[in-house]
Amino acid sequence: ATPTALMVGVGRGAQLGILIKGPEALETSRGIDTVVLDKTGTVTTGRMTVTEIIPVAGFDSGQLLRFAAAVESASEHPIAAAVVARADAEFTTLPEVEHFTALPGLGARGEVDGREVVVGRATLLSDNGIMIDTTTSERIVEAQHTGATVVVVAVGNAVAGLLVITDVIKSGAREAVDQLHRIGLRTMLLSGDNEVTANAVAARIGITEVSAGVLPAEKAAAIAELQAAGRRVAMVGDGVNDAPALATADLGLAMARGTDIALRSADIILVRDDLRVVPDAVLLAHQTLRTIH
Ligand code: ADP
Ligand code: MG
Repeated sequence: ATPTALMVGVGRGAQLGILIKGPEALETSRGIDTVVLDKTGTVTTGRMTVTEIIPVAGFDSGQLLRFAAAVESASEHPIAAAVVARADAEFTTLPEVEHFTALPGLGARGEVDGREVVVGRATLLSDNGIMIDTTTSERIVEAQHTGATVVVVAVGNAVAGLLVITDVIKSGAREAVDQLHRIGLRTMLLSGDNEVTANAVAARIGITEVSAGVLPAEKAAAIAELQAAGRRVAMVGDGVNDAPALATADLGLAMARGTDIALRSADIILVRDDLRVVPDAVLLAHQTLRTIH
């Protein structure tokens, strides 16, 4: 084996905006047959906006938004940023939050104006014994079918309403998936988001295999499960919660705009925020290895 050939691959990659960490990074990428893509921030831009505010009995949209934004102002999640941005556009001040707790992969909670406020995915509320009625459940699923993420807001242990959060699929995502399929690779969408939303996004970009509702700590296990089934896996991600999965994958690819820990855990960094280089990166790894063995 010639380290020189590997170095040539590294150099070619750099020209394409594919930064290979070092020659060893490619060594484990032999025989990749599956590319797993994280949804939020990888397939989508991750720049979310609140597109609908749906209050439920006893609340108006302003109150709903204020309670939710007060809690989210202490959270670092991209959903939280969307909620706070919307509130900032409508109010000059927000109430303080006390006893804030982030619930990774689920949502957040805290006390606002002396009332317990929970924001997050529907299962977080049901797990806390907060009932979601049938009409509200139907509205949630309806919005999820469009690919939106629905945040449920509870105030004082009762549902106060829904916030519909919309993210945009990156241009080129569909093309990237088509190309991956054309070169004989299988694809899978991996997301912490619920199944309906994840399936809707997957359908739009031509992915049929979906693993949804995956908690941050479970993402690496999802990759290991594929490997245990004999698959050789490349994982593309951007977030803190993707880092262990990127490290577990046979080839980890991080979007350059991702978080530091994702960049550190990956073998390859994609300089441009464009998924169309993913097939190039996998092919480059294949070709470089073929040259030297
Ligand atoms: P992803 O893998 O899509 O980036 P996460 O694992 O971070 O998602 O979160 C999974 C789900 O948990 C989100 O889709 C959302 O429904 C909910 N969630 C997590 N954090 C928050 C938050 N701060 N506010 C509202 N909902 C949240
Ligand atoms: Mg992400």
